[in-house]
Amino acid sequence: MKRTTAEALPPMPHIREIQSRLGAWYDEHARPLPWRADVSAYHVLLSEIILQQTRVDQGMSYYHRFTERFPSVEDLAAASEDEVLLLWQGLGYYSRGRNLRRAAQLIVSDFGGEIPRTLEELSRLPGVGPYTRGAILSFAYDLPYPTVDGNVYRVLSRLFALSAPIDTTTGQRLYWAVAEALLDRAHPGRHNQGLIELGALCCIPRRPHCSECPLQPYCLAHRSGIEEELPIKQGKTKVLPRYMYYFLIRVTDEAGLSHILIHRRGEGDIWQGLYELPLIETGEEGVEVEALMEQASFHRLLSGLQAPRFHSAPIARHAHRLSHRQIYASLFLIEASGVDPSLPYRLIPESERGAYAFPILIERLLAQVR
Ligand code: SF4
Repeated sequence: MKRTTAEALPPMPHIREIQSRLGAWYDEHARPLPWRADVSAYHVLLSEIILQQTRVDQGMSYYHRFTERFPSVEDLAAASEDEVLLLWQGLGYYSRGRNLRRAAQLIVSDFGGEIPRTLEELSRLPGVGPYTRGAILSFAYDLPYPTVDGNVYRVLSRLFALSAPIDTTTGQRLYWAVAEALLDRAHPGRHNQGLIELGALCCIPRRPHCSECPLQPYCLAHRSGIEEELPIKQGKTKVLPRYMYYFLIRVTDEAGLSHILIHRRGEGDIWQGLYELPLIETGEEGVEVEALMEQASFHRLLSGLQAPRFHSAPIARHAHRLSHRQIYASLFLIEASGVDPSLPYRLIPESERGAYAFPILIERLLAQVR
């Protein structure tokens, strides 16, 4: 993947804290894998090409076979294709085994036996894709390049609540740009391996171990309870729209202090237990504001407010993707001077909003409001 930062990055506060917690966690929890014990660019190349085909526990025996039979890149380059394929047996995708040998031959013939240290030169090696290039540059040479594999996609999508599908070119560009922005340039090898290890051990696809995760205080998906909704894959899911109309109800008291109405979401739906603003949903069909104002729930809401003033143009909009739903949310402002206690909402000072956990969708709507 081309390195780029041109895509619109999400807000990424706490980068330093994330880097430092991730690095400390990796130092303590990294598995003692053979290619980590004896780091060289050749060992990174071998292990990463093998791990494209298999899990770590199975990949280890292949890694040992290759390093024992071909201790150096020159030994691998000098091997016959049959010999390499024999060792590769059981891994499948034999073209990868053939490419590995051809890459070794090119390293010997064109780079004097040293595995290149630039993206451009590494791009010339057959079978060495963006992930492996980033892995070689950062793990072996500690150069400041990001790298993104399936584990990293998962961790980044959850950490920053990214809903861009990971199986689209646009989505992948965004993830690489986020990985680059998050990179700890002082310790790129440790940082990249930390993200991968976190995805392998902690931020696993189903039931991630959030209570043990060093990044939990900063994880937006965890905060919104949508860990298992992410990452999104476009190809797999049928996505239905869901239209949500939120109301920022500002109640100004006699002292001039601003309060807002919130409530806690119940069970049986997304964002269980999180707080949100008063909401009217219209299902899979969106409505114009006139139709919204005719809803019985809108009348009930307004009748519980004293001197309500409804602003009919939305003050914020946000589209938010979940795995099976595309949410289209709008936020309207209602100003009032008091609230009927029978309304099923909690009145809180607006300045204390940060003490309540809102879904990321609400945060993004409110971020647009001055
Ligand atoms: S808190 Fe949970 S979802 Fe978030 S990065 Fe950690 S393990 Fe993953």
